[in-house]
Amino acid sequence: MPIFDRSRSLFSKAQQYIPGGVNSPVRAFKAVGGDPLFIKSAKGAYVYDEDNNQYIELINSWGPMILGHSHEIIEKAVSEAIPRSLSFGAPTAKEVEIAALIVDMVPSIEKVRMVNSGTEATMSAVRLARGYTGKDKLIKFAGCYHGHGDSFLIAAGSGAMTMGIPNSPGVTEGTAQDTLLADFNDITSVRKLVETNKGQIAAIILEPVAGNMGCILPKEGFLQDLRKLCDEERIVLIFDEVMTGFRLAKGGAQELYGVTPDMTTLGKIIGGGMPVGAYGGKKEIMDFVSPVGPVYQAGTLSGNPIAMAAGYAILSHLNENSKIYEDLDRVTTKIVNGYRQNLEKLGLNYTLTQQGSMFCLFFTDQEVFDYNSASTSDTELFGKYFRSMLNQGIYLAPSQYEALFVSHAITDEIADRIIDANYQALKEIH
Ligand SMILES: *Cc1c(COP(=O)(O)O)cnc(C)c1O
Repeated sequence: MPIFDRSRSLFSKAQQYIPGGVNSPVRAFKAVGGDPLFIKSAKGAYVYDEDNNQYIELINSWGPMILGHSHEIIEKAVSEAIPRSLSFGAPTAKEVEIAALIVDMVPSIEKVRMVNSGTEATMSAVRLARGYTGKDKLIKFAGCYHGHGDSFLIAAGSGAMTMGIPNSPGVTEGTAQDTLLADFNDITSVRKLVETNKGQIAAIILEPVAGNMGCILPKEGFLQDLRKLCDEERIVLIFDEVMTGFRLAKGGAQELYGVTPDMTTLGKIIGGGMPVGAYGGKKEIMDFVSPVGPVYQAGTLSGNPIAMAAGYAILSHLNENSKIYEDLDRVTTKIVNGYRQNLEKLGLNYTLTQQGSMFCLFFTDQEVFDYNSASTSDTELFGKYFRSMLNQGIYLAPSQYEALFVSHAITDEIADRIIDANYQALKEIH
């Protein structure tokens, strides 16, 4: 059993000075119980906490570290950029290079604007869609996460709900009323909203593969149906690929599923571990952004030279080494198949989902295809499972409703250790 003394004492001190002791809520382990680990360092597939415990990494900074930690290519790019100063607030050559690379890699993007987080990307994209269409309303899907912008913090509620109710104090009713909720994988729920709000919908935003309510795949035809509906109604279709971009394929989920959105939001991998986001899309829409267009959006540190160096290094590495995606697919499939066999051996019938290097074990025996079906999971059991995995040296995301990310540093041997730990954990909690 690992000892967590230093993490525990750091957490108690942290709580004096930082709300909840953390700078982002999910880090607090509230959904699984216990105190969060304070991380000291990480290399490749392993992460080390302040008590010097070693873990196999399946969080990977919630996505960005797709190559594993402390990858030499990214470290080299950053070290070379540092002596030239950390920030200028002026255009740089690297920004042009990374923009051209993103346009090359992501099918739907003709022009792109860099920002500092996924949240900024989605907020800016929606403002732009509103400015461009001259319409106000937004359709989002229950269970999809688009960062913490006011318009996106709308309760899941029942699928029949047509008017948004804010699920965070501080989001005004006025803002919430412009966000309409549909059900993932249910085109009828979207059509109904479009009908009852005829001519008022500026944009539909979704995670094309949902990764913030576990991992949920779009059903056959769902993305295509959305594309068609948006074309018919002059609605801007936004794929939030902050998680899936550069992960599921070079060109993200849109490449994989062959559906072209009008706009795309990016984050996570795009910064290689630095705080970066981006939004892009059709020229015609992007040229509505200031200073060419009337929609305002800005950022003192946007396109920061260190962040761009890291981002360019990771994206060009992924672009030039397509085999990485085959490897990621193969190793993740191996883990998922291993889990499936473990479940069979133990006579359990839980649901597994996977798309490329994203996967999720839902503690429910129902098919999971939207927020409501995901919510049938036994989160208390997940908490026990999480603890058991942690004690065996596997660092999972501390919530049932997170996708797990496999990095390229996970070898077959490490995958076997994950599968063995999964068996032990499942056995222990039943
Ligand atoms: C993480 C995430 C965001 C928010 O990005 P931040 O960088 O945390 O602001 C937005 N959308 C999706 C799909 C995400 O996974």
